[in-house]
Amino acid sequence: MAIVNPWVECFFVGALQMRCSVVTDRATGDTVIIDGGSEPDRLIAWIERFGGRGPDWSNGPSSPSEQSHLPQRRVVALVNTHAHFDHSGHIPDLLEHYPVKWYLHPDDTYLQSLAQSSARRWGFDAPTPAVADEVLEPGTIMEFGSLKFQILHTPGHTLGGCCLNLLVEDGANHLFVGDTLFAGSVGRTDLPDTGGDFDVLATSIHTQLWPLEADTVVYPGHGPLTTIGHERATNPFVGEGAGPGGMYGRGKYA
Ligand SMILES: [Zn+2]
Ligand SMILES: [Zn+2]
Repeated sequence: MAIVNPWVECFFVGALQMRCSVVTDRATGDTVIIDGGSEPDRLIAWIERFGGRGPDWSNGPSSPSEQSHLPQRRVVALVNTHAHFDHSGHIPDLLEHYPVKWYLHPDDTYLQSLAQSSARRWGFDAPTPAVADEVLEPGTIMEFGSLKFQILHTPGHTLGGCCLNLLVEDGANHLFVGDTLFAGSVGRTDLPDTGGDFDVLATSIHTQLWPLEADTVVYPGHGPLTTIGHERATNPFVGEGAGPGGMYGRGKYA
């Protein structure tokens, strides 16, 4: 059975303000960290004892008034949408604290090996890159503790980019898209060492994301939340009004 009433916290971390999402099953305490790419100490302090600065409540969907109802949390897996350094650079620090498996699509293995050098090129520090323990398997529903995610392979921003659809029993599903889709934009396809391709990205979105339910809540890797229905109707790059090829060009974020 799909999860009932999940708890999702979003943290905009690092200089690129990347969205890290922490998903908890309120019934079991099982917790998955999606794209734990930066500020590991902030994430750990909050997950374990509501310490420090905590999530960005303004961006929803959770609210601080409900946090006291959470059980003791147990981090059961680290999962990544893709391997750009802002999303994966500090995974080794989280793995040092949480002895769990880290999941990534294998087509981002090369990109992941560059996480430290890419970070340095942007002027940031990062540890020796993590190597994924397990592969995301597109077309399947993967279980991390009591949390179940439908795995969608959506290349175009990177070769191994995936969207993770948390299946919810009593409400809208939650779709973690990384940099594939943004509110009113799409991921960049011009970044080095990445395999970016706008046509591939548009095809991924058209075939993998638009068929999802309209009320599916979309959690982009940068910027505000949106929904599948809203983007399908209005996105100027890949939405229904975009025309063939859309506004051919580049999205806003890395
Ligand atoms: Zn990003
Ligand atoms: Zn990216």
